[in-house]
Amino acid sequence: MENTEYNSLNLSPAVEEKMIEDAFNDVLDGYLKSNHRKKVEIIKRAYNFAKSAHSGIRRRSGEPYILHPIAVAKIVSQEIGLGSTSICSALLHDVVEDTEYTVEDIRINFGDKIAQIVDGLTKISGGIFGDKASLQAENFRKLLLSMAEDVRVILIKMADRLHNMRTLGSMLPSKQYKIAGETLYIYAPLAHRLGLFAIKTELEDLSLKYQHPDKYNDIKQKIAQSEAQREHAFEHFAAPIRADLDKMGLKYTINARVKSIFSIWRKMEMKHLDFEGVYDLYAVRIVFDCDNEEDEKKICWNIYTIITEHYRLHPFRIRDWLSTPKPNGYQALHVTVMGDDGNWVEVQIRSRKMDDIAERGFAAHWKYKIGESEEETELEEWLKKITDILKDPTPSGIDLLDTIKLNLYSHDISIFTPKGDLITFPKGATVLDVAYSLHTELGSHAIAGKVNHKLVPISYVLHSGDQVEVLTSATQQPEQEWLGMVKTAKATNRIQAQLKKEKKKIIDAGEQKVIKALEKSKPDDISKYIDKLMAYFHMSQRDDLFYAVGLETIVLTPSVLKTAFKQKQNEKKSSILNKLWLFSDKKKNNNQSEPVKKEGKKLNFKEIYVLKTENGIKNYEIAPCCSPIPGDDVVGYVDDNNHVVVHKMDCGIASKLKSTFGNRLIATKWEESPLVSTFLTTISIEGIDRMGILRELIHEISINMAIDMRKLNIEAKDGIFKCSMVLKVSDAKIVDRLCRQIKKIDGVKKAVRIS
Ligand code: MN
Repeated sequence: MENTEYNSLNLSPAVEEKMIEDAFNDVLDGYLKSNHRKKVEIIKRAYNFAKSAHSGIRRRSGEPYILHPIAVAKIVSQEIGLGSTSICSALLHDVVEDTEYTVEDIRINFGDKIAQIVDGLTKISGGIFGDKASLQAENFRKLLLSMAEDVRVILIKMADRLHNMRTLGSMLPSKQYKIAGETLYIYAPLAHRLGLFAIKTELEDLSLKYQHPDKYNDIKQKIAQSEAQREHAFEHFAAPIRADLDKMGLKYTINARVKSIFSIWRKMEMKHLDFEGVYDLYAVRIVFDCDNEEDEKKICWNIYTIITEHYRLHPFRIRDWLSTPKPNGYQALHVTVMGDDGNWVEVQIRSRKMDDIAERGFAAHWKYKIGESEEETELEEWLKKITDILKDPTPSGIDLLDTIKLNLYSHDISIFTPKGDLITFPKGATVLDVAYSLHTELGSHAIAGKVNHKLVPISYVLHSGDQVEVLTSATQQPEQEWLGMVKTAKATNRIQAQLKKEKKKIIDAGEQKVIKALEKSKPDDISKYIDKLMAYFHMSQRDDLFYAVGLETIVLTPSVLKTAFKQKQNEKKSSILNKLWLFSDKKKNNNQSEPVKKEGKKLNFKEIYVLKTENGIKNYEIAPCCSPIPGDDVVGYVDDNNHVVVHKMDCGIASKLKSTFGNRLIATKWEESPLVSTFLTTISIEGIDRMGILRELIHEISINMAIDMRKLNIEAKDGIFKCSMVLKVSDAKIVDRLCRQIKKIDGVKKAVRIS
């Protein structure tokens, strides 16, 4: 998975040729071992076609381009488990985008199906997100629509993204952030939704690796260091279970599965823990072979009995995904028990087939049910939901992304209609969601609900099994607040569309008013004076002006008009942005993650923008959402005012910016020279209260470390104290050192920096 830095200059053509042949034969061998039909001829043809189409072209890393489609085909076949149609489509996936060949050529040579998939892949090439918000939404729409047409499009796209992530090291840093951010924002959730667990995990880990290399390596190293100890604890835990499973005569494997680096990191971040504080570092997984499908669940429960005979069960942590599989098809039995060392251990029990489906998602169903498609109903239902959203008029690009994203990670609940129909909703759905799902009119006139025959407001959050009835009133109308009450994309979209309609009425009325006002004073040049009014009120869109006038937040009296037209036009915007484009890659039409077609052409730019402070003047601004300080992994975003705003790499707002305005990102680093202590940061301390502890704390901070304290908040209750303080510091290292020092004070249990 490391980036393969082939240098074409060092390899003779013959060696390179052999490398390509080997890679392809690897794909073929894997395919022949699978239980798909053996359609080797068409795969070989697709390979030869792609190879000659891409011949002479190299990736940024220097390797022959054809190695990329071959790698994607390998993932599609061996990691997702798809067959010849998908392998061919993967081999051909960049041909239409990057070479002279058209979809027609593909159709003539390989038939309708492959042509359709390649066409779908071409339409969504270049990443989901383009340069503009509207374009992003359009690309995303296309992606999901093509997915609804043939889900293999998105599976191959997933493989394409995975390979690009595996080879991300050879991209520019600013591109790396954009691609890693986009991967985390949209591809990992999609992989999760599709049940591609292994791929989701790898995508998350790789995103972390590029966004926080130090933290990634640190955790990776600590996992390796603690392996022997973990192995020992596991062997001790597993021994009695093994003995009993052997007695059952079962063919099985039992092993310890360490959490992914990403999920360990996330847990550390969210709960403010250090590595040692993550107790559920691994889960035990038992996978057994079973020829008779009917016995699978029974065997799971038998194993459950064995485990609970040896270890104490955590009563609230049994997860029965045997009776009701997860929406993405996941089936297993999870139990948590207490090991002899007093730590809780999760044990996952699955049959071989369940395991396969868990790792590869619904694609694995095809392996077990070739020719049948019964099992895909959950996924199809979800795709239908998405298609439904896409058919609606959509308010704006970002909103669309958000609403769809809402549906990606959801765990569903089921509710009943008064007639007894069962409908599923994402967790957190309200009465209003139910109303909109049944009918738009029902939604827009909903005034209250009856849940299990009790009267509740429309914002009432539902639980699985609730029976829900919607009450309406003819005079009811959607309001802005409703957007905060709904969980489903469908309801959000409908409400937005209705609010937009209302807004449009106000805008139209406002426009009439503006025109009327200007007709009196400036009848000849209305359009120009509308622009002047916009400049005066600092508005960038005409509709904003009309809306304000329509709402009467702006009233165009003769005196207002007079002052507005006296005002000089806005000063020319500064040109930082133009300068910055020199630093980042400005080739607009360049297919973002893909090949460097023109050999020898060197892009002339600086890759890293240095955050400097000179004579007290900074060339950047600190994002208030995450308040980064020197030493943090940061990324720069060029805002509308051409300022570089620095965010922490893992800031929620930044990750949204990363995935939606990737072209405004710049790779940044802090200036090397010693910085002044001008950065505000907050640390939180907890511990057991005792006389004099506060004095010691303050002594440590103010005297020993000589750190300036700006604000102090203390709360003590029942012998426990909690305190937060705002400090003026120069960088993150100081804060880390301070936290370590504070933890040495008797009674302090926790000292962490918080955002
Ligand atoms: Mn590709």
